Amino acid sequence: MISGMTYLNFVGGKWVPSESGATFENRNPANTDDLIGLFPDSTIGDAEGAIAAARHAFESWRLVPAPKRAEILFKAAHLIATRKEEFARDMTREMGKVLDETRGDVQEAIDMTYFLAAEGRRLHGQTAPSELRDKFAMSLRQPIGVCSLITPWNFPMAIPSWKIIPALVCGNTVVLKPSELAPLSSINFVKVLEEAGVPAGVVNLVTGGPSVGEILTTHRDVAVVSFTGSTAVGKLVNQNAAPFFKKVHLEMGGKNAIMIMDDANLELALEGCLWGGFGTTGQRCTAASRVIAHEKVHDRFVEGFIKRAASLRVGDGLDAATQMGPSISEKQLQKVMSYVEIGKQEGATIARGGKRLTSGPHAKGFFHEPTVFTGVTPQMRIAREEIFGPVVSVIKCASVDEAVAITNDVIYGLSASIYTQDINRAFKAMRDVYTGIFYVNAPTIGAEVHLPFGGTKATGNGHREAGLASLDVFSEWKSIYVDFSGKLQRAQIDTENI
Ligand code: NAD
Repeated sequence: MISGMTYLNFVGGKWVPSESGATFENRNPANTDDLIGLFPDSTIGDAEGAIAAARHAFESWRLVPAPKRAEILFKAAHLIATRKEEFARDMTREMGKVLDETRGDVQEAIDMTYFLAAEGRRLHGQTAPSELRDKFAMSLRQPIGVCSLITPWNFPMAIPSWKIIPALVCGNTVVLKPSELAPLSSINFVKVLEEAGVPAGVVNLVTGGPSVGEILTTHRDVAVVSFTGSTAVGKLVNQNAAPFFKKVHLEMGGKNAIMIMDDANLELALEGCLWGGFGTTGQRCTAASRVIAHEKVHDRFVEGFIKRAASLRVGDGLDAATQMGPSISEKQLQKVMSYVEIGKQEGATIARGGKRLTSGPHAKGFFHEPTVFTGVTPQMRIAREEIFGPVVSVIKCASVDEAVAITNDVIYGLSASIYTQDINRAFKAMRDVYTGIFYVNAPTIGAEVHLPFGGTKATGNGHREAGLASLDVFSEWKSIYVDFSGKLQRAQIDTENI
């Protein structure tokens, strides 16, 4: 394992340092003695250089036949698959989630790349009859231009792939700015694209913080901004891009709920809540941070859930025995701890956990006990705000209608689920919960790449990532009419004598 390597930006097909020469450190959140590497602390000038390279490359890439663009992407998918284990280990080291999960993250990038590369031979449009004689009508997808892609740290290879691959297959060029907390996985992904033969300037990568993100959202040569991150930053991105009429795609925070009815298979629900609540240390946009349990099964659920949460092995994700890793950073851990205090002050009960772990194997990382709050009411902040850590709030309900109302009564709308054996309740909840994703008898996490992914309300702005829906973010419809009558025909005015 190489420790403390110096990494570079990728601009116009070359690996280059920041023009300032400045770098920032990235350390392993499970052990801060472990320096992952130094990454360019890019300037606005670096970002402008990357945008210029993407702008230049667009003129030729948009004309490469889509099936040929796809061939390069298929090759990239294959290359990632051959390096899955190496990439998963790098990812666990840089952002902490356990190896099983980082393997899943890399697998998601492989799946997404294969799935959307196949669109190179489809990218279907429509043909339609014209209302006029001897006239042909069709619509087709056209590429848009330079796409700025701004990504978070919790799915550091999957999320870049969700954006880069549909952008490229549609004929756009991109500038990626990964989170400063997990840039290595993006670099690994981009290196594979380079090796697969993506031409110079088509994919560019600049590492750095908010100032790099800001120029990527306002620069006049950027046509599309695709952002995944917190709702607070997403709002800024939207405001910054709005005066320039850029196409903006936002995937933001969540406060997802699992509803457990009195007829639920409780063992199954317990397993689902553990995975949904504490998988990725609760740092998933789709994390099940609320459990809404029917009063008839509430106590039995809490008893089982506490036991299971207590048995989770917390530690370094590289250790095969570990079930839950650290928070990503000291700042994120402090946020978790502050919400634990808020919950106590609001009158909720800590049924399990509640403390930072600081000794032995936890001494050099950002570890926290899996924490369960009971006696939570829907109005408490711990039931309404995104904590993004290993904290689950259990709320009691008396009916499916009440559970649905509580689920909907937050600003977010990403994912929700219901555990029940009653098909009527399942369908009612499926219809009435206003989220972008819904599960029956499964937790709130587990999306597959070929279906649209995204949320309602403060989680998204109406676009979707993944699935064929992602093509709508990265292409624009052009409707084309070909008149072969040899005379002027006026739609809506000339009448047709039959
Ligand atoms: P964040 O909002 O802090 O940062 C996201 C990205 O935005 C980073 O690359 C960051 O450097 C950049 N950024 C920061 N300020 C910026 C600015 N002013 N202009 C442009 N870019 C800027 O989020 P995070 O902590 O990296 O990720 C966690 C958040 O992401 C959570 O809220 C989580 O729910 C959300 N998330 C959502 C989804 C989804 O698909 N809905 C998926 C994963 C994570």
